[in-house]
Amino acid sequence: MAKFSIDLQAGKVKDDDAVGSVGQVIVGIDLGTTNSLVAHVSNNQAVAVAGKDGKNVLVPSIVHFAENGDVLVGEEAKPFLTTAPERTIYSVKRLLGKSYGDLAGARNRFGYRVIDEDEDRLVKIAVPGPDGEDRYYSPIELSARILKSLKTRIETELGSEVSRAVITVPAYFNDAQRQATRDAGKLAGLDVLRIVNEPTASSLAYGIGLRDEDEGRTIAVYDLGGGTFDVSILRIEQGIFEVLSTNGDTFLGGDDLDQAISDHWIKEKQLTIDTAQKRGEIRLLAERAKKQLSSQDSFTTEFHGTTLYLDRDLANVLFTPLIKRTIASCDRALKDAELTIQDIDHVIMVGGSTRVPLVQKEVTNFFGKEVNNTLDPDQVVALGAAIQADVLAGNQTDVLLLDITPLSLGIETVGGLMDPIIPRNSKVPTRVGRKYTTSVDGQKNLKVAVFQGERDMVKDNRKLGEFVLSDIPPMPAGIPQIEIQFYLDADGILRVKAMEHRSGQSQSVTIKSQYGISEEEMAEMLIDSLSNAETDMKNRALVEARNEANNVLLSTRKFLEQNASWLEVQQVNDIGEYAEKLAQAVAGEDKDAINNRLDELNRFTEPLAHEALDRNVAAAIKGDGISAK
Ligand code: ADP
Ligand code: MG
Repeated sequence: MAKFSIDLQAGKVKDDDAVGSVGQVIVGIDLGTTNSLVAHVSNNQAVAVAGKDGKNVLVPSIVHFAENGDVLVGEEAKPFLTTAPERTIYSVKRLLGKSYGDLAGARNRFGYRVIDEDEDRLVKIAVPGPDGEDRYYSPIELSARILKSLKTRIETELGSEVSRAVITVPAYFNDAQRQATRDAGKLAGLDVLRIVNEPTASSLAYGIGLRDEDEGRTIAVYDLGGGTFDVSILRIEQGIFEVLSTNGDTFLGGDDLDQAISDHWIKEKQLTIDTAQKRGEIRLLAERAKKQLSSQDSFTTEFHGTTLYLDRDLANVLFTPLIKRTIASCDRALKDAELTIQDIDHVIMVGGSTRVPLVQKEVTNFFGKEVNNTLDPDQVVALGAAIQADVLAGNQTDVLLLDITPLSLGIETVGGLMDPIIPRNSKVPTRVGRKYTTSVDGQKNLKVAVFQGERDMVKDNRKLGEFVLSDIPPMPAGIPQIEIQFYLDADGILRVKAMEHRSGQSQSVTIKSQYGISEEEMAEMLIDSLSNAETDMKNRALVEARNEANNVLLSTRKFLEQNASWLEVQQVNDIGEYAEKLAQAVAGEDKDAINNRLDELNRFTEPLAHEALDRNVAAAIKGDGISAK
């Protein structure tokens, strides 16, 4: 069953369907070199999960073994990178599934000890234990620590046990590395249902590969992380992502940008960096500068009495050689795939370092097209993993994605009528606005209920959600000008906004209907709408007649109040009688009866309405100003 939900600014409202479909979730995990994170699909939306602070979704991939035997993971472990490097393990992903032989010279790049034994055995890391004796840890155990902390994080968030996961790995990971990742999951108490390539997950995060028309599309995924750069060329064939080529540099990433900045400062100010403490400090300052320069033009700080300054232009000069190397990799990846730039349909930006504006610019220039960068580049991989997990969980079978909307989207109007705002088969993205007003005097709240389907009565359609536009200042019925806007984006996300123009009150919701509806369900709904077309039409005619009658009854009552001063008693009684007859017809089921009574009432009141108008005009000329509009 499909599920939909809407997030109100004020809180969450769930459609009933969503509640019923909460099973055991399968989570998506990006086990990164620098940062790791966990995501899940909640209310049809992939979301990354934050820690205790409620903000930070990234867990630094760092494990610290304290002298007293405590083990810290993530943000808590980070400060020890500089103060206790031999006990603080970072970038363990680089060691996963590797033997000493594999590492060769790279072994000395770490601040901790990667021990040297047999060439063919998997590496181990030596850390001094509480008793001073070395303890040995495998990269699998260390990765498991990180996974375990992600598991705890999402269990806390969901309030239930999580035991199944999808974990991502770089496309170039070999079998040993993939197996090691699986084992790490197992050790953390996770059943790893699938190992997914990071670039594949990234495409899924952007919804690429979930739609029929993505068949045969070619995608370039540019992933610049903390310490590694990967570019992958993928092709979607028969719903499967095929890796055509990968390229990159396992020692090129954001860390190198930091390094370039600190090298520049050290040279420029002739700084002496003689302690590990200072080396750590200046690195952190360099990273802060880099991040700030992604959104601002300059950065200034103090370092042991020296002012350090950097602006965007100079940072760009420092970064250029490194970024050029990534572009050269893209070129090679294309050549290996035997493709040219024209063959690439989508370019996807992944990894925290793609926030650097120069990176965006160079990649856009190279591929000669706009890149996909609307999602948080830190989160893309994990979000895609969560979507893959959701597909595995069976929540997205027969996924049908929208480029034209297959069913009409609309709102409920008076009497339970469906008012389609975006008709079926409309191209997306699309934006449609429509004006409504209130039907009751002094109405303060307006419920906006959103439905999908072709039937005339909302009760026969699928409800996507509802929200309330509240605090409309009291006004007579028909006076408020309420505009309802539907905006359906290319990803099938519907945003509904309601505004009352006179008071400026507004309220909006986002509804994601993209993954919700299977092809069968849709076919069923369409067949339903056709076979019920006749009854639907009759129903609609009845409801419309009732609505019209109710409006006229309301204005008649007002007319009587406003014109009591001059109407004769007989006239008032007659109007009352006609109105009463109409009200009785409204209570019945006969639309012709309603329309006939309506005509009678209108015929009787019409001359009186003219007279009222004349009197108002006359009074206005005299200066009484009765009707001011
Ligand atoms: P990984 O995939 O290696 O785990 P991430 O994708 O998490 O790495 O990227 C981490 C890198 O992104 C770090 O080098 C960090 O400094 C960099 N980064 C994060 N935010 C920004 C920013 N606003 N501007 C530039 N670089 C950033
Ligand atoms: Mg990454």
